Amino acid sequence: FTVLGIETSCDDTGVAVVESTGKILGESIASQAGIHENFGGIVPGLAKEAHAANIQATIADALDKAGMDVRDVDAIAVTVGPGLEICLRVGCEAAKTLAIAHSKPFVGVHHLEAHILMSRLNSSLEFPFLSLLVSGGHCQLLRCDGIGSYEVIGGTLDDSLGEAYDKVARMLNLPVGGGGGPAVEALAKNGDPSVVKLPIPMQHRKDCDFSFAGLKNAFRMAVNKMKEIRGLEEGGDLAEQDKADLAASFQNVAIKHLEQRLKLAISNTKRDTPAIDKLVVVGGVAANKAIRESLSNICEANEWDFFVPEARLCTDNGVMAAWAGIEKINCNISDVPTTQEVFARYPFSNN
Ligand code: ATP
Ligand code: FE
Repeated sequence: FTVLGIETSCDDTGVAVVESTGKILGESIASQAGIHENFGGIVPGLAKEAHAANIQATIADALDKAGMDVRDVDAIAVTVGPGLEICLRVGCEAAKTLAIAHSKPFVGVHHLEAHILMSRLNSSLEFPFLSLLVSGGHCQLLRCDGIGSYEVIGGTLDDSLGEAYDKVARMLNLPVGGGGGPAVEALAKNGDPSVVKLPIPMQHRKDCDFSFAGLKNAFRMAVNKMKEIRGLEEGGDLAEQDKADLAASFQNVAIKHLEQRLKLAISNTKRDTPAIDKLVVVGGVAANKAIRESLSNICEANEWDFFVPEARLCTDNGVMAAWAGIEKINCNISDVPTTQEVFARYPFSNN
């Protein structure tokens, strides 16, 4: 069977038609990269307007690429939370309208569950497994026992890692449209992480929680210090190599933090039943090559299997909504379009 998936939880309008085999038949994404660039973050009202302006064309484009009419798809899935409420509503209303007009089964999808389930698209991954969700709004370690069955075993005490990447990009005057992560990663490749010393967060805590606020502040001070050394005003722009060294140092410490928390999680879950010996890394930041490599190495050292979605499918997109819909339909789960609501906050319920 085929599912049309719609995702509008944040700043990208994503739509895709996916087959239950995992084959992506057609996908389309309307990025808002240029819209929020000068605002220091995503402006919800502007994001909502852009979703509303783009949603119908994005749906039409995804169907067109699949060579299908909406009448041909077997079900409609849509992200219903968590996210920006007014943005979620645009996607949800469009999905409800289609489902009702064409009498299609309808599935409301949890955005974080959809990120997690991308690790099972075209892979041999079976439950249970451990998930490291690193995205624009979240940083969590979760024990995943089945569809709808997720237990958060660690989370961030302050910022998410994606947010930290975005702030770092801004402090270095890098392009931040659509997220600053890729620009920081590219720059870090040419940098020497030993030039600037930054503190690894929460080294002495033995739990699986995260913190990035302290690192972000230390980074801000390191940037200012570098400017001072170079005789630049606070608004002045650093030389490329200085930026690269700073970016490399930030990424290096962020990765060390992830590695330490993951090692603790691996040793803490040793006593769990059923036992876990697989890690998935998901969410936008999971597109980062250096992070993928380091965490994969830790898994290898612990004889754990390692799974990560294709990089381009780590950030928000329509495929994830469609695939999560497929996973839920396979468990005989569906929702009623006429009464479906959206949820800005949407904690995982454990069942
Ligand atoms: P959430 O899923 O928590 O609701 P979101 O949907 O806004 O948040 P995602 O689309 O999952 O977030 O991820 C976007 C984040 O991923 C941004 O912060 C972006 O900077 C980051 N990101 C994307 N690619 C990379 C990369 N290569 N390296 C580091 N960070 C990256
Ligand atoms: Fe996301």
